[in-house]
Amino acid sequence: MTRWRYAAATDIGLVRQTNQDALYADDTLAIIADGMGGHAAGEVAAAISIDLVREGFRESPSVEGLVEAIQAANLAVVSDSRANPEHFGMGTTIIAVGLTLDLEGMVSPTLVHVGDSRAYQLRDGALRQLSEDHSVAEEWVRMGRLTTEEAAVHPRRHQLTRAVGVEDTIAIDVASISALAGDRLLICSDGLSNELDNDTLARLASAPNGLEMAVESLVSEAKVAGGRDNISVILLEFDQVNVATFPIRRTMSTAPPPVASKILGSSRPRRRRWTWRVWASTLIVIALVAGFFSVLHWYAYSNYYLGDDAGIIAVYQGQPHGFLWYQPIMVFDTTYSAHQLLAGDARALARTISEPSLSSALLYVKSLHTDWEQSRAASSATTTTTTTSIPTTTTTVKKG
Ligand code: MN
Repeated sequence: MTRWRYAAATDIGLVRQTNQDALYADDTLAIIADGMGGHAAGEVAAAISIDLVREGFRESPSVEGLVEAIQAANLAVVSDSRANPEHFGMGTTIIAVGLTLDLEGMVSPTLVHVGDSRAYQLRDGALRQLSEDHSVAEEWVRMGRLTTEEAAVHPRRHQLTRAVGVEDTIAIDVASISALAGDRLLICSDGLSNELDNDTLARLASAPNGLEMAVESLVSEAKVAGGRDNISVILLEFDQVNVATFPIRRTMSTAPPPVASKILGSSRPRRRRWTWRVWASTLIVIALVAGFFSVLHWYAYSNYYLGDDAGIIAVYQGQPHGFLWYQPIMVFDTTYSAHQLLAGDARALARTISEPSLSSALLYVKSLHTDWEQSRAASSATTTTTTTSIPTTTTTVKKG
């Protein structure tokens, strides 16, 4: 069983016109929201966030419930500022400690926060800061670019790197709190932590006169120190406390994990290889298509045939009636007349006579012509013989 007692106070401070801080505390949940934005916008952002975190945690009093409640608050503030131009630019910090129930049935304190509101743990008069500020200066301290002393006076110490209601995605720091009975938790807005140093905070928050008195003295001392901002304080003291079965400390983000960009990065060479493959296969396809067409072209013009070109025997290259879109071309007009052929050869010529090459076609034409000339010579020789034999016969008759 975990049980706490609590006291809380919020004060406008000495300088500000409005109190844009909001807080809530009960037996299982303590929340502070430090709103920002012109007019009343900061108050709106803080109020929306407190309401939604309370509601979400009541429905699901677990670490997940707490984180999802802050995510819901973030989206609600974002959509409100988009819907209402006068709320543009509003946002809020949020810090909450909830008594969360885990799967083993253990109830233990969990801290969730976004922004620069803080949580400190107090034990035996000593103070330890549990939260890390999400401010430019503090992030730089963690990166080693600034010392703690430099950060305390750095002009960007109040500029937040994370807040509720600024973007659709949000990163929330979540940490199990390991506490002992008697430990106190101090939760506050920066109106307290900017005005009082750690020693003062530790002394006032650990004071044994009861929680209410301690809270009052913290607020009044912050005002004495300047009271330049709204001051909000919640002080919890554990009567009994458990530790989470599996303590966690991590940042939970609704943004895609940074690993995703690494995967994208590593896929770049893969993409390059893929492009190389596309190039290679494109070239292969081009080669195949070119090869296919050259085979077609080769086949279309691989043949020679003899034809009648206006009474002259000509040699054509190509398939006799064309092939696809390849038409035969006349490559050679012989000097031989198409009429000076034997009857059978003339019929063959009409049906086309194919030859594998131009020279064989020409030789064939010549042989056809030779055949015709020889047959003509033979028939004229026969005529001559007959003509000359007649007188002989006549002579013979005369003799007879
Ligand atoms: Mn503030």
